[in-house]
This record gives sequence, C-alpha cells and structure tokens, in this order.
Amino acid sequence: MFENKDTSRTSISTLGEFGLIDHLTKHFKIAQKSTVVGIGDDAAILDFNTKKQVVVTTDLLVEGVHFDLSYMPLKHLGYKAVMVNLSDVYAMNAEATQITVSIAVSNRFPVEALEELYAGIQAAAVTYKVDVVGGDTTSSTSGLVISITALGQVAAEKATRRDTANEGDLLVVSGDLGAAYLGLQVLEREKQVFRVNPNSQPDLEKYTYLVERQLKPEARKDITALLAELEVLPTSMIDVSDGLSSEVIHICKKSNVGCNLYEDKLPLDPQVINTCEEFNLDSTTIALSGGEDYELLFTIKQDDFLKVKANPHLSVIGHITKESEGTHLITRANTKIPLIARGWNAMEEKE
Ligand code: ADP
Ligand code: MG
Repeated sequence: MFENKDTSRTSISTLGEFGLIDHLTKHFKIAQKSTVVGIGDDAAILDFNTKKQVVVTTDLLVEGVHFDLSYMPLKHLGYKAVMVNLSDVYAMNAEATQITVSIAVSNRFPVEALEELYAGIQAAAVTYKVDVVGGDTTSSTSGLVISITALGQVAAEKATRRDTANEGDLLVVSGDLGAAYLGLQVLEREKQVFRVNPNSQPDLEKYTYLVERQLKPEARKDITALLAELEVLPTSMIDVSDGLSSEVIHICKKSNVGCNLYEDKLPLDPQVINTCEEFNLDSTTIALSGGEDYELLFTIKQDDFLKVKANPHLSVIGHITKESEGTHLITRANTKIPLIARGWNAMEEKE
C-alpha cells in the first residue's frame, strides 16, 4: 500500500486558486492519442477519430457519506475515487481514456493534504493510462467533495449493457466478494478502540487483504482484457459496487429475466471466511450485500462455458432463467430463497 507522508502545513491561500491547480497538476502527462488539449484551457479537446462509441460516467464522493478521513489516507482516497469511475467504464467493456477531477475543499486542508490526494489520483491515472484533462476547484464550508468524470471508448458491437442478458446464459463474477465491506468493519473497529485508548497500536496483520480491498481497490481492467483474450463477449455486464445481489437484480430487472444463484459457488477469500467467523457474521450475507468490491458481474452464453470454466479469476455462480421464475439463491441445503437487494447502506442501518 501507499506510504504515509505529511509533516508541514502550507495554507491554500498562499498559492491562490490558479497557483493551486497548477501546483497540483503540473506533473500530469498525456498518454492518450485522443487527448489534443488537456488541463490549462477553458475546455479540453478530445479527438477520438474512430468508429468507436464514447462512454461517459460520473461519481460524486462526499466526506462523511462516502469516506471517512480518520482512516482513509488522502492518497488512497484519490486513488479510490478514480477506481470507482474506471470500474464503471470497464463494466461497459470500454477502454478508459480520460478523466476530469473536481474538488470542493475547506481551508482546514493544507496544500500538503491536496498534494497527497493528487498523488493518489496521479498514481491511478498512470497505472490505468488515463489522462487527467480538466476539472474544477472551489471552496467548501464543511467537508471535502470529489467528483470525477471518466470517458472511454468501445466498439458498438462490444459494449456490454445491463439489459441484454438472455434465458439460459451463465452468471459469472470476477475475483472474490465481501472483502471490502469487512475491511471497513475492521477499520471502524480500530477507530473505536483508538477513541478509548489512543496509545493502542492496531494489529491489522490478519486483515491485510480486507483492508487493502477497502482502501486501495483496483478496477478490473485486467478482466476485460482477459475476456477479450478468451474470446468471450459477455451478453450483459455490470460492476459490483453496491453488493452482488443488488447488481444481479439490476441485470435481471433491466433484461426482463430471472436467475438462480448458487450459495456454494460464491467466491470467498479465506480472510473473509475467518473474519466472518470472528465477527459472527454470515459470509453468504456479506458476499451478497457487502459493497465496494468493484468486481465485474456478467452473463455469458452457455457455449462459452469451457472458456471460463477453469479460470482462477472467474467464477460461474448461477444462470439466467425466465422472468416468471424470479431471482433466487439456491442455498447449500438446496432450499430456494428470493434474492433481496440490500446495498451496504441498508446493512449499516440494520445494525
Ligand atoms: P475556468 O475558470 O475556465 O473554469 P479554471 O480556472 O477553473 O478554468 O481551470 C483552469 C484549468 O484547470 C482548466 O483546464 C480546468 O479544467 C483545470 N482544472 C481546474 N481545477 C482542476 C482540478 N481540481 N483538477 C484538475 N484540473 C483542474
Ligand atoms: Mg472552473
């Protein structure tokens, strides 16, 4: 993970708005051919000059609602804010090309804090080869607000929508589920312990994977590349941001189909299983409803089964049925229970 760095404090007012933008963005380099003019003019100029279609997506992150700076280092926050957007671009089977970054920030943040935030944004941009081509900067009277817009391109016939799954298709998910939600639980617990005893040293050794999944998620660009390599074009796709069951239901509703999901097929990391035991949580509930996994959930034709079957990054977790059959989970005990959409917000309220 990233290392912490923060010692001095320079007030934003010493640089002024223009000086600040310049200071934060001067190291950004252009990697995409389609970027003609990046930061520094009234608007960016992009020239896609292909027959591909353009995808656009935006996410807004608000301090206290989407992130908590007491355990989220700013560098990680910058990185994660980019990942959240790129994940949506990859869910369309598109290549991400540019982002814009807008921030509202109170003057309780020193310049050094924004440097950290932008170091995370830059690390993400470099790793995923997207250009930062603009944004806006303004002041906030309360918390930090970050809005990122991502652009990408995809050939029309390769775009993967939510509304195109068909009866008989197989449901597939990348990676594993539930770890980011548990990472958040671990960090929240440490925060409470720290409140009671500020001298306590957190021992997060057992939870490294969980905490990493919460603080430094990666958008699954590699999975879209893998699918292209395997010559599998999903019949529909969505990214898992709110929780698996909610995303499965989105695909089914939009596509007018039903599905059966198999409990014993849900991919779980050993740290998820162990931590669920420790926290007395049901790992299936966490896999279905824990949020922020940023994995890709997609449907494929049955004919493509052999191409994905033995792949360690992909799990076939169910199949698409007629709409009239509804959306169900088939448990290990072979009982059929209706899937319910409970995002991580709803889970928080329940407790
Ligand atoms: P304008 O007043 O025309 O909106 P700004 O002074 O806000 O222009 O921005 C100047 C340039 O800096 C523009 O290219 C804009 O896209 C870019 N920019 C502004 N804020 C940010 C930011 N937070 N991150 C990245 N680029 C930014
Ligand atoms: Mg502006």
